[in-house]
Amino acid sequence: MQFAEDDGGAGEKQACHEVMQVSCECCGMEEDCTATYITRVREYFYGRWICGLCSEAVKEKKRKRKISMEEALVWHMELCIKFNRRTRVDLKLSFAGAVKEMAAKSSQYSAGPDK
Ligand SMILES: [Zn+2]
Repeated sequence: MQFAEDDGGAGEKQACHEVMQVSCECCGMEEDCTATYITRVREYFYGRWICGLCSEAVKEKKRKRKISMEEALVWHMELCIKFNRRTRVDLKLSFAGAVKEMAAKSSQYSAGPDK
């Protein structure tokens, strides 16, 4: 069985449906989004791309404090950058610990192979 190839090489799809990977400028989380969505978010947040969670936080801040979107965005970015620095260090430490643990476990396993 063969599939009919009557598409005639639809190599180039519409640019707006192209999925790209973007990373949040606040928390650094990576997301796969369509180009259209990315553009829309950038227009909304003064040329920055931020993830759904961060944009919710910014909007919330804007509403509660009655500040401008730009101020709320700056406030949130600063907070995220500070927070990220701390969590990144923690992540590194816990990752190193996990690797050590794994190495210890695997050496235990390989200690008695003939049985
Ligand atoms: Zn984010």
